[in-house]
Amino acid sequence: MRPEKTSKKKKYDEYEKKERKKVVYKTEKNTKKSIKGNIVEKASNKNQQSKKNTNNQYEKFNKTKESNALETKGKKKAKDGNICPVYRKCGGCQYQGVSYIDQLKEKQKLVQKLIGGYCKVHPIIGMEDPLHYRNKVHAVFDRDKKGNPISGVYEAKSHRVVPVEVCMIEDKKADEIIGTIRGMLKSFKIKTYDEDTQYGLLRHVLIRKGHISGEIMVVLVTASPVFPSKNNFVKALRAIHPEITTVIQNVNGRGTSMVLGDKENVLYGKGYIEDTLCGCTFRISSKSFYQINSVQTEVLYNKAIELANLTGKERVIDAYCGIGTIGMVAAKKAGEVIGVELNKDAVKDAYSNAKRNNMENIKFYQGDAGEFLCKLASGGEDVDVVFMDPPRSGSTETFINALAVMAPKKVVYISCNPETLARDLAYLKKKGYQAKEAYPVDMFPYTNHVECVVLLSRAMK
Ligand code: SAH
Repeated sequence: MRPEKTSKKKKYDEYEKKERKKVVYKTEKNTKKSIKGNIVEKASNKNQQSKKNTNNQYEKFNKTKESNALETKGKKKAKDGNICPVYRKCGGCQYQGVSYIDQLKEKQKLVQKLIGGYCKVHPIIGMEDPLHYRNKVHAVFDRDKKGNPISGVYEAKSHRVVPVEVCMIEDKKADEIIGTIRGMLKSFKIKTYDEDTQYGLLRHVLIRKGHISGEIMVVLVTASPVFPSKNNFVKALRAIHPEITTVIQNVNGRGTSMVLGDKENVLYGKGYIEDTLCGCTFRISSKSFYQINSVQTEVLYNKAIELANLTGKERVIDAYCGIGTIGMVAAKKAGEVIGVELNKDAVKDAYSNAKRNNMENIKFYQGDAGEFLCKLASGGEDVDVVFMDPPRSGSTETFINALAVMAPKKVVYISCNPETLARDLAYLKKKGYQAKEAYPVDMFPYTNHVECVVLLSRAMK
């Protein structure tokens, strides 16, 4: 029942072969040679200029212009380069056709431009193998004009499904499993769901894979709870892919673009997977937030912990903590950690993770990070180090004001959006926190996203 090698797949294989040849980036030694030589020298020249207008760096930056410039660059180059067969319709990878080293240079330039006026920006840490890094893969199901099941992604700004069989940034095994499921539908008489007529059963498939554990979760999102011959379906799927460790049916009868519904039935296994990150074990359920690039997440967290330079005695805050990942890694080297997170489910996961790892020096609070810090500040509480990892919209003045009152010696800011990072660094500076050094980390190769970790310390009064 394995899917046949279609011409699309062959085309893709050729594409990937060429792409692999172009990936010349190596982390340690080569970084120093290629990235330092090429980027940092130029960057330091720019640094001189940007230092002059430190304070209005963010205001001057024209957001729309910059992001458009990045996207056009990708598209222009892709015309004559090696590109993924579905890249135009899919739109997931803005850097298609751009060599990996050039992608890194672009990201370095952007970070330098945005925050180079505040502190030294180190060479970006890229991936040795930047392909197939996504540990979470989602496919929407539909049928083509002939009525054959297809799966893939929604075409940008529409609800048309672009068929995708293989993807260069998704986990290979996950794509294989999705292909198998697609191939099984006819013989099991399972119809894919039609959004217009609201007829049919299977809407989406979501796969999560533990990078170290190898555990695999398959979530079958169905429009109704009635799933005929589900046990045989799971049995047949597992006969082809015995590496699947858990299968979940998620019921989503809503007409929204949300992939997952509220109700879940575990069809096989324990209903979650576990994985190890920086020596801690995390339980990941279908809805938990978990970084999608495990290799680079370790790099990012290790860098954040290294910058904090913990001695084992500190009182630490992990703000915007998600399921408690950074806080738990820090707890091994600190006296006490307090995590704060808005999402209730994530806080539940954080508690069970702490228990699972026998950690007794970490606590979690559910609520807005800014309000929580205000409470701590007005209670006269002291902390030594604050890790902050806000969403793309960045932090808030309330949070930063309270932080300034508490006056921790060090702040480690982890950001997935250099634009809001620049804005927040300007405000932190006003409040007495000087950025010292920044490391861009490439968590999302082939896309125009870039992560940064910045060390700040309190200016002496
Ligand atoms: N540090 C975690 C999660 C980072 S993502 C990790 O590395 O995995 C950002 C997190 O901030 C999300 O979990 C989101 O739910 C949370 N968040 C968003 N707004 C928040 C707020 N106002 N207060 C606290 N947490 C918030």
